[in-house]
Amino acid sequence: MVIKKCQTCNREIIRDYIEFKCPACLKTRILRCMDCENKSTPYTCSDCGFKGP
Ligand SMILES: [Zn+2]
Ligand SMILES: [Zn+2]
Repeated sequence: MVIKKCQTCNREIIRDYIEFKCPACLKTRILRCMDCENKSTPYTCSDCGFKGP
């Protein structure tokens, strides 16, 4: 079993999450828990360093 981590808060994702590609490099997948999604917490792409809401 793979443990998924939220890119924003770095916590393990237990239930719902959204997944999308970094809009800058279109390579890295960004995972976000619903908690951060609801708060629109900024994320940073681990690959290119892009920051976005
Ligand atoms: Zn989170
Ligand atoms: Zn990126």
